Amino acid sequence: MFHIYCPYCEEWREEEEFHPKGQAHIQRPIDPESCSDEEWGDYLFFRDNPRGIHHELWVHAVGCRKFFNITRHTQSYEILETYRMGETPSVTAESVKREAIAAAASTATSESAEEVRA
Ligand SMILES: [Zn+2]
Repeated sequence: MFHIYCPYCEEWREEEEFHPKGQAHIQRPIDPESCSDEEWGDYLFFRDNPRGIHHELWVHAVGCRKFFNITRHTQSYEILETYRMGETPSVTAESVKREAIAAAASTATSESAEEVRA
């Protein structure tokens, strides 16, 4: 049993109250009549399945019954943030990659600084 933060109720609630509804941020083509079969097929059927950061649509089914988004790591299953519909995630695959590079760079510089001192 774990808890998920509902951004509308602004409370941590038991995970049994929530249901996943698939990938978040999928936009319906503005003019379906003018898109190609491939574009329409992508919209209807194809979803990302990344190893790492993934944005998902969830619903607080036994609560406020509102939809919201979760940023989850697909390897660790860790929920990194929850946010309301229409908001942009603060944690993205790019931001995590940038932080990892910055952390590696700071580790490398502190190691080289220690080598200079020694
Ligand atoms: Zn709620």
